[in-house]
Amino acid sequence: MDGREAVLAGKNSSAAADSAKAEKLRERLDRLLREAADVEVELSRADGTIKGVPHYSLIEGRAHELGKQLSREVQQRQMNELAASHATMAKCPQCGTRCALRPQNRTVKSVDGDTTLQELVGDCPRCRRSFFPDTRAAGL
Ligand SMILES: [Zn+2]
Repeated sequence: MDGREAVLAGKNSSAAADSAKAEKLRERLDRLLREAADVEVELSRADGTIKGVPHYSLIEGRAHELGKQLSREVQQRQMNELAASHATMAKCPQCGTRCALRPQNRTVKSVDGDTTLQELVGDCPRCRRSFFPDTRAAGL
C-alpha cells in the first residue's frame, strides 16, 4: 500500500464509522419517537383530552401538535449550534469596522408555530447600528 492508498483507506474507514454512527443515531431516534408517541397517548388519556371513542380529527390534531413541538425544538437546537460555531467577530457591512458579536434571542414565526431562536448580532460603535453578520461569508 503506497501513501495515497493509505489515505484513501483512511477516508473509507472514516466514512464507514460515520455511516455506523448515523445508523445508531437513526435507531435511537426511532426508539425515542416511539416512546414519545407512547407518552403522548398516555398523557391524552390522563389529561382527559381523549376519552371514549373520540372523533379521528381530535387524535390527528393532538398528534400534529406534538410533531410541531418537535419541529420547533429541532429548529432551536440547529440555530443555537450555528450561533455557537460562528465567529465571535464580524465586519460591519456599512463601514467595515470589526465588531464583537453577541447572541440574541429572536421569536420566529415558523410553519410549525412561534419559536425562539438564537442568532448573533453585531453592534457597530462607529455607525451606531446593529447588524446581522453574513453567515455565508463564514462558510455556514
Ligand atoms: Zn459600521
